[in-house]
Amino acid sequence: MLQRFTARAVVVGDRAGTVVPDAVVDVEDGLIAWVGPAAEAPGAADARITALRGVLTPGLVNTHSHAPMVLFRGQGEGLPLDRWLREVMWPREARLTPEDVEVAMTAASAEMLRHGVTASVEMYFHPERIAAAVTATGARAVIANPLIGLPGFGSFDEQLDTALRLAAGAAGDGQVEYGIGPHSAYTVPLPVLTQAAEAARAHDLLLTVHVAETATEGDELLATSGASVPSLLAAHDVLGGRVLGAHCVHMDDGDLELWREYDAAVAHCPGSNTKLASGTARLRDMLDLGIRVGLGTDGPASNDNLDLFEDLRLAAQLARLRERDATALTAPEAFWLATGAAAAAIGREDLGQLTAGRRADLVHVDSDDIAFVPVGDADDLVTHLVWSVGSRHVRDTWVAGRQVVRDGVSTTVDEAALRADVQTRAMRLAGR
Ligand SMILES: [Zn+2]
Repeated sequence: MLQRFTARAVVVGDRAGTVVPDAVVDVEDGLIAWVGPAAEAPGAADARITALRGVLTPGLVNTHSHAPMVLFRGQGEGLPLDRWLREVMWPREARLTPEDVEVAMTAASAEMLRHGVTASVEMYFHPERIAAAVTATGARAVIANPLIGLPGFGSFDEQLDTALRLAAGAAGDGQVEYGIGPHSAYTVPLPVLTQAAEAARAHDLLLTVHVAETATEGDELLATSGASVPSLLAAHDVLGGRVLGAHCVHMDDGDLELWREYDAAVAHCPGSNTKLASGTARLRDMLDLGIRVGLGTDGPASNDNLDLFEDLRLAAQLARLRERDATALTAPEAFWLATGAAAAAIGREDLGQLTAGRRADLVHVDSDDIAFVPVGDADDLVTHLVWSVGSRHVRDTWVAGRQVVRDGVSTTVDEAALRADVQTRAMRLAGR
């Protein structure tokens, strides 16, 4: 059955910042069948019409998240990283059950959908529970099974086998996709990274790994090998295929050149990078080199929210400050980094833009608000989306044409009950 959405305007989510005023989006079988001006729309006598007063945008794509960490939001605030890990995070994660992960991910997924984020790349324990959570909320996820040397989580071989087993059993409907998530080059031995990358290429899986997040994390590897982490990854045959480096803050010219050469992508996480004082990534240089970049929130224990609207604004602010140039990142580019560019960064060209053939993940932003005034020409809508509008203006969200948020409320899960459940579980994990 054909669904027809009419809206004040459609923001396509491409690099140019294309806006279609007085627009129609036709959806059939979960895919976008047609997008364009209402005056040129094909006949649709039998269509179910949804008339929207506001702006339709693509569902935002969060390229780097550990969303079940909503259980640890705000905990250990103000501690330096080593004490935060030892005193706050590790004792809590040691008590974590699969059910904790599922409940937390369900709550976090509902939160993301309310913020207009319809897909996220998740790297966290108990991947099947993360899949169950997004199946409940109706969101999409690319779930990278973590490879990390922690007690209780098996050997690296077992973790890689789990990732491949899950990937082989996935439904292939584009809702849940599995990938491989070796934590980093400083926590996972290089031969394991090589093996993981070979497996990812063989099965066309996303391989996502933390890279150059802090200035000092690669020091030990540099001292023993004389090479930076990006050059070690290249030398160990890790960079070919669907590779997504998270953070990539401390990259020199040679490192960026490797990313360009191998067409590796970057999950840029400005919220986390500022909160944890990690540094400012070279976003303008990356884009000028043609490196694929998408925005990520990182985990809610280091951001502390899952609101990609904040990250896209911060990305523009930081790029401009870094370059001391108010043109260093345009508003259309900032919005594209959370939509079309983010989808490209994770190798999912079926997401991230409102164009025919892509999946019908739509966000209705209420434009009856002073934050959207004035509008001289249609391009002003994109400017406002980046600079004055926020997730608070998201009214409705659809994934594959199915409405999952209506008037700011999840249609699929009970957010109040989830909130209470997360609170109880978080206190138990804290040992209180
Ligand atoms: Zn991370």
